[in-house]
Order: sequence, then C-alpha cells, then structure tokens
Amino acid sequence: MNLKKLVLSRLGHTEYRPLQEEAIDALCSGRDVLLAAPTGGGKSLVYQSAGLIRSGIAVIVSPLLSLMSQQVDELNRKGINAKFLNSTMNPGEQDDLVWAIRHNHIDLLYLSPEKLVQPSVIGFLHSFDISLFAVDEAHCISQWGNFFRPEYSQLGQLKDAFPNVPIIALTGTVDKQTISSIQESLKLENSLILKNSFDRSNINLQIAQKRKAKQQILYFLHHEAPGQTGIIYCRSRKKTEEISSWLRQLGLPSLSYHAAMQEQDKQNNHQTFIEQHGTIMVATTAYGMGIDIPHVRFVIHLDLPNSPEAYFQEIGRAGRDGQPAKTLLLYGLQDMLQAQQLAVSQPLSAEKEVHHLVNLFQILEGRGCRRQQLLSHFDESIPACNYCDRCLSTKSEHNMTTASQKMLSLIYHTKGLEPFALLIQILLGKKTKAVSAVRAELLPLYGKGKELTEVQWKSVIRHLIAFKYLSIGESNIFTVQINEKSRSVLQGKTQIIIPSEHYYPILKEEQLAL
Ligand code: ADP
Repeated sequence: MNLKKLVLSRLGHTEYRPLQEEAIDALCSGRDVLLAAPTGGGKSLVYQSAGLIRSGIAVIVSPLLSLMSQQVDELNRKGINAKFLNSTMNPGEQDDLVWAIRHNHIDLLYLSPEKLVQPSVIGFLHSFDISLFAVDEAHCISQWGNFFRPEYSQLGQLKDAFPNVPIIALTGTVDKQTISSIQESLKLENSLILKNSFDRSNINLQIAQKRKAKQQILYFLHHEAPGQTGIIYCRSRKKTEEISSWLRQLGLPSLSYHAAMQEQDKQNNHQTFIEQHGTIMVATTAYGMGIDIPHVRFVIHLDLPNSPEAYFQEIGRAGRDGQPAKTLLLYGLQDMLQAQQLAVSQPLSAEKEVHHLVNLFQILEGRGCRRQQLLSHFDESIPACNYCDRCLSTKSEHNMTTASQKMLSLIYHTKGLEPFALLIQILLGKKTKAVSAVRAELLPLYGKGKELTEVQWKSVIRHLIAFKYLSIGESNIFTVQINEKSRSVLQGKTQIIIPSEHYYPILKEEQLAL
C-alpha cells in the first residue's frame, strides 16, 4: 500500500475524492493550494492527509475553537498525534505540548490565528520542520466576505517567514472577489486553485412566500419532516426563543441557540441537539460555522439570510451524511425591505451588505430552477434539478410589463415618498384613510390596477427591487426612485416576466395530531 492510501485508511476512509487527491498531490510537491469546496465537501481530509504524508508538523489555523477541538478529539480517537494549542491551557499543559513537539510526537498542530501570528510562536515554529500551513475558513481574511476577522489579515506574514512551506487556504465560498483577496492576503501568487462543485444534490430547495409562517412551519414539520432533526434559522435572538418555546408547547422537542446565551447553555443545547435525534434547533446564524452533524434532515429559514453564500452555508448544514434533506425558505416583500433597511444602516459596510442582499434577492425572484439560480451565483451551470419547488410547479410565468409600468409611473408621480402598501391601495382603488390623506383619488392611476390582486402587486414590486428597476433610498427614511432601468421598462424596451406565486401550505395548531 502506498503512503497516501495508508494515511487515508488511518483517517478512516477508503477512497479519496478526485479534488482531494489533486490538492494533496500539489501540497506534497510543495505547491500552495486554494481549495474552494462547499461545507461538507471534505476539505479537512486534504490538510490532514498531506500533513501526515509530508514530514514535519502541519500547522492548522481555524477561526473556531470548538471546531478545532472537535477535530483534534476525533483525530486522537483514530490514534493520530494531533494537538490543539489554545489559551485555556495552563503552563504545565503548555510545557507538555512543547515537549511533545520537540520530540516529534506531533503531526498536526491546531491553533488560533491570533496565537499563530504572535512573534514568539512564529519564532518557536522556526526551530521545527513544518510540513504545511492550512488556513481553514480562509474567507475570514477577506473584507469582502461575510465573516471578516481582522486578525486573519496578519496571516500574510507566514509566506515571508516560511517561504518554502506550502500553504493551503480552504474556503466554502467561491465569490471571485473573496478568492482573489484570499490569494493576495496570503501571498499565494502561484497557487493551484481548485474548485469543487457546489451542487449538493441531496438537498432539496423550496422557497416560498410567507403567509402565516408558524402554520407553514407546522405543515413542514408534520408532512415533510415528521420526527426529524433540523434547524430553523431566525434573525433575532428573541424570536429563536419564542419559536422554540412555542414548539415545545406543541409537544415538539426544541431548543434555541443564539450569541447572547451563556456559554454553558450553548454547549448543552448543542450537545443535546447532536445526541437526541428528532430535536429542532431554533437558532440565529450564531449557530453556524463548523457545525458538522451528519443527521440534520432539514433547514428552515424563517427570515432571510444575508447573502447567497450565507444561504448556501446554512442550508448546507442539512444532509451532511449524503442522505436526502429538505429545506424551506419563507419570505415576503416586508422581509426584503427590512433586510435592505438593515443592510443600508451598517455603518462601515453598507455597500457590501446591500450588494450581497441584492444577489440573494435575484436568486429568490429569478425565473426557473432554484438550484440553477443558486449555483449560477457560484459560476456553476447545471441542468434543471427537476425537484425544487419551481421544477415541480406548473412553471407558469406572467408578463407583468404593463403592471410594472403602472407601478413605476405611480412611484414617479408620488416622488417615491409613499410606502408600497399605499401604492398598492391606490392602484386597487381602495378608499382608505391613507389614500385620502394624500388625495390619491385624484391621481390618474387611482383604481387602474384592479386586474391584479394585492399579492400579485407585491410580487411585481419584489421583482422590480430584486432586479434593480427600482432604487431604494440609501438612508433610514423610506424613499424609492426610478432609474435608468425603470425608464427602459416605461418605454416598453424591457419586458418584465414574473414566475407564478407559490404559497407553501399551512397546518393549524388545532389540526396537529399530537
Ligand atoms: P468540510 O471541511 O469541507 O466542511 P469535512 O472535511 O468536514 O468537510 O467532511 C465532510 C464529511 O465528509 C465528513 O463526515 C467526512 O468524514 C466525509 N468525507 C470527507 N472525505 C471523504 C472521503 N474521501 N470519503 C468518504 N467520506 C469523506
């Protein structure tokens, strides 16, 4: 058996995946590698294998302490000499570790980026033979990514300090800007860039309009994932607790998880979630990076994720065992507006946040297969999946050009100062206080949009926002403007085609058979 095979079997597997082998070969020949593969794509096996094949100590950095300690425990169980250098170690433990390093008793050394860049640590490592550096979750290095960690940006000094040691950067993102900023920051000019398919075909995608969201969730839990383990993502901490206690009242085993919880409670809930199959974890995105639980069967988004990458990462926590898994994202116009408002108000990163969000909106509102939409964001082109909600629906679409022209003209006439809810009332010819307050009965478009329902008007607005036929004001006060793209619609040069609305069914609490 050759060394590569031997190492693979020590790590508990029988076959490398094609990209893993390519990355390992490159590292073993001393070349830097940038490996972009989705969560669950088997990235850890690459640096673990190469680290065991090459002589010397492989140094691995990751932003998440829990992830590192989990990996080290697992490796130790397999009889592999891996250690985790962290700040919670007492001086005695640190001495033991140094002793073990000096006596060649360590193959893989995990530490945090903060620790690694300390001059004393760099100096210490200099006296040993280092086989490679692995920078996990390398998108943390990029200001452009979703998880920027300033201390990561100092990792560029590794190349200067150890010019002959190969570096592998690993990321679950393929966003071009992020990739080039990783390359630049880590000084990986001639690295081999390997990109795995981001298609996780065992994960089913459903995206639907929100209507009585709690009852929609009940339908999902009852009909699509009865008794199964899954995660429900919400934006606010309060909401995770509310939803989780509501589920418990209904007799469904549920826990919550968010950043403001006590460390011990987080740990307990995480552990229970792993051990007790059938538990529903209601969490903010704090329950995220590095969660590797094979039997998560579903992920529900009760609120919008921040970007396509975040959406992808979050749904990617389902089906990590390769078995079928289901996802459901519920949203509506209101969610889009709120998310946009929040993004705009980010003091340092408004432009970036809005950019990510608009990319997400385009996936939600785009025509055709959901999986195609999502993967095209990652520059991958695949055939229609035939099992997302779009592929399974009647695939009907409507030409909404005239409706869009009416909406855009009304926005123009009202100077973009009125909320969408009022604009819809005007088009439907409603006689409400809000309508009379702005004397909208006198507007030429008053009552001229009765051919559509309120729900359809909302879908027109969502589409116009997603594809930038409307510009939302860049301040906290609601304003909306027409722009160059809207003019082209108004002049009839651009057609607006919108897929039919899809509502996910509901199940009332009293219908739930306990
Ligand atoms: P990532 O770091 O890319 O998120 P992991 O390294 O955690 O992914 O791997 C995800 C899962 O795939 C793990 O359960 C791992 O054991 C499994 N895996 C990785 N490589 C292989 C392989 N070559 N053969 C079988 N299973 C693998």
